[in-house]
Formats: sequence, C-alpha cells, structure tokens
Amino acid sequence: MKAIQIFQTGGPEVLTLVDVPVPVPGPGQVLIKVAAIGVNFIEIYFREGRYKAPLPLVPGSEASGTVEAVGAEVEGFAVGDWVASVSVMGSYAEFALVPAAQLVKVPAGMDLKLAAAALLQGMTAHYLSHSTFPLKAGDTALVHAAAGGTGLLLTQMAKSVGARVIATVSTEAKAELARAAGADEVILYTDADFEVETRRLTDGRGVDVVYDSVGRTTFDKSLNCLRPRGMMVLFGGSSGAVPPFDLIQLSVKGSLFVTRPTLFQYMATRAELEERAGFVLNGVAAGRLALRTEHTYPLASAAVAQVDIASRGTTGKLLLVP
Ligand code: NDP
Repeated sequence: MKAIQIFQTGGPEVLTLVDVPVPVPGPGQVLIKVAAIGVNFIEIYFREGRYKAPLPLVPGSEASGTVEAVGAEVEGFAVGDWVASVSVMGSYAEFALVPAAQLVKVPAGMDLKLAAAALLQGMTAHYLSHSTFPLKAGDTALVHAAAGGTGLLLTQMAKSVGARVIATVSTEAKAELARAAGADEVILYTDADFEVETRRLTDGRGVDVVYDSVGRTTFDKSLNCLRPRGMMVLFGGSSGAVPPFDLIQLSVKGSLFVTRPTLFQYMATRAELEERAGFVLNGVAAGRLALRTEHTYPLASAAVAQVDIASRGTTGKLLLVP
C-alpha cells in the first residue's frame, strides 16, 4: 500500500511517499481501508521532532474509512462498517490500524470525507464548550482563530447554546466565515487591538471565557479580556508556545482560572468518546453543524497540506484522500 513515512525529523520534505505492506490487525485492533485523512497541527510537531515518536513513523491520527479486517477479541465491528477515529495508528496511508476501543461508527449514508473532517476538531469544540467551560445562554466567549477548523465548529456550538461569541480572525474573508458560523462580533486582530475591542464590546466587563488556540501572540492580552473569575482556556499554540508564566498574574488580573486541556482526557472512557463523537457526527449528518472541506489534497501531497495549515491561509478542515 501507499503511505507517507518520516525517516528523520525535519521540514515538510521529510514526508516521503513509500510502498509498505498492509498492516495486520492484532488482538483488539481493526484494519480500516482509509477514505479520508484529517490533517492536524500535531502531525507537524511530530514531524519537526518537538513531540517524540519512534522512527520511521507513518504520521496521522484522524481518518474515516471502511472496516477491512478485525483482529481477535474485537466485538461490535464487522467488515464493511463505516467508521472513523482520532486514534488511528498512522492515518497517512491507504490502510491503517485502529484500537477497536477508539473506533466509532459513522451514521449511515454520511459522506466519509465529512466524518474525517468533523471528528477531531468537532470533539474538541464540543469538550471546550460543553465540559471545560460549559457555556450557557447569556455567557460571552472570545474565540480566537474563529475561521479555522476548530474555531468555526466552536463558534457554531457556542451559538447553539445561546452564548454570545466575539470572534477574532486575520482577514475580512475569514470574518465573513466567522459571521456565517454565527459570531456576533468579529475583530480583525491583525489590524485592531483585540483587548481594547473586547473591553468595548463588553462595556468594560470582560468576557466569561477565552478559547485561545493561537497561544504565544494572544495569551497575555487574552487574560486582560476576562471578567473577574473568568476562565482562560489555552488549547493550542498555532503562533508558538506560551512562555513560562507567573501565576501571581492570575490574582492581579482578577482571580482568573487558566487551563491547558487536550482532547484525550475528554474522551477517556468509551461512553465519553461515543457521546462526543455522536454529537458531532449526528450533528453534521443532520445539517446542524456545517463544515468547510475545500482544502482537499491527494495523499502524495501531504507536505503541501502541512505547509498550508501552518501558513494561516486556510479555513475549515484540511483533508488528504488516498
Ligand atoms: P486552524 O484551522 O485553527 O488553523 C490555525 C489558525 O490559527 C490559522 O488559520 C490562523 O487563523 C491562526 N493563527 C494565528 N497566528 C498564527 C500563526 N502565527 N501561524 C499560523 N496560524 C496562526 O487549525 P486547527 O483548528 O486544526 O487547530 C487550531 C489549534 O488548536 C492548533 O494549535 C492545534 O494544535 C490546537 N488543537 C488542540 C486540541 C486540543 O485538544 N488541545 C485539539 C485540536 C487542535 P487567523 O488567520 O484567523 O489568525
């Protein structure tokens, strides 16, 4: 089968298209024929060596597809089932293994590309808005990078529970997308000071929660956008990692809360995984959640996709199709 492999860490050029044997599912594992592969920032961190993994490595953790074979002790999945997962053991490939415990079924008739586009960013948006800081009607949230893959879904989910969304984006075209996703206010944070604007838009009160995936360039000002006892949810670092931070700032700025969550602790049990995945996949299948999937590349162009997601030029989800 064709797969992308990394033999050494480095730039996009280390992503190499290779022929490797189709893997054989061991106990508790399922082999899927991959239909679509979700591209995520974390693959760049592994490629660059910021996150460590044994080499050679087939990158990628998100994919949808059909069940090709099941290993021993697997229950609940059969050959031909439509499935998706964010825990694929190397999804940049034509076939891949997934622990059955981490696999979910895709609703009948749903486009498998949409399933791959929705799952990781959708479950992330779901835990951020329903568990980390459970939004309710009347709350105001500041959502950075609101036209990104996660940002568009988070904005839609925040609006669906009745919260007010102040969104930040870098261009007018992205502002249009954030508004279409339901954002009440949009700040072009490359032109305007988002701290000043957020204070103005909240009559000086500040927001209840900031969802910040941008990190290095937004973190300090984001703290200044919070109301007393508000919550800073730092869930990514698209602009770089936030440097070490003096906790006394949380006191000075108003008894604030800060958390740095990751999806994996929010899908720790089978019940939680099924609840979040069901919310997202059924929401997309029923038309309650809209996705943008205009950035789709052949598997061989994985390097281009990784350059593009980091370039700030994309909106919505990036997919590879084998
Ligand atoms: P996005 O589609 O949001 O792409 C990143 C966006 O960040 C860009 O489009 C850009 O939007 C904004 N950005 C601001 N500054 C920069 C910069 N210097 N370089 C690049 N982008 C910049 O990506 P995802 O939705 O896939 O992921 C968003 C973030 O969330 C990532 O950091 C990812 O690692 C993290 N994440 C965390 C998870 C968790 O559980 N903790 C799970 C999933 C993702 P604009 O042009 O509008 O500024």
